[in-house]
Amino acid sequence: METLTVKTSSRTDLKEITGEVASAAAKTGVEEGICMVFIPHTTAGVTINENADPAAREDLASTLDRMVPWDGPYRHAEGNSAAHVKSSLVGHSAMVPVHEGRLVLGTWQGIYLCEFDGPRTRKVHVQVMSLARPT
Ligand code: ZN
Repeated sequence: METLTVKTSSRTDLKEITGEVASAAAKTGVEEGICMVFIPHTTAGVTINENADPAAREDLASTLDRMVPWDGPYRHAEGNSAAHVKSSLVGHSAMVPVHEGRLVLGTWQGIYLCEFDGPRTRKVHVQVMSLARPT
């Protein structure tokens, strides 16, 4: 397993990590398989979305902020319940097929670490499961 370290720069920060994940996956030498990206945090997540127009991810971040406002009738004493809720909405893992040693992403797809309680330093685990090539 490879572990990336990613610094985020604001409370909500959708940070593209496609290149770092691709490099980590390539290091494994697996030609055919599944790349799992896992976020070991409760106030961050991972998603795959458009990486061409930055406005698309700004819209995703602002929509999540409207859906789950920072201030609300929350009970969690740490004061970051909105971040915990968004973390579960987005999810903690993403899977990408690996074919001929490369991630198979759509033309406009990028992998994003979703920070909801930043700025912080986050870990991203990348593990590639090898699958036998059909004969
Ligand atoms: Zn908390």
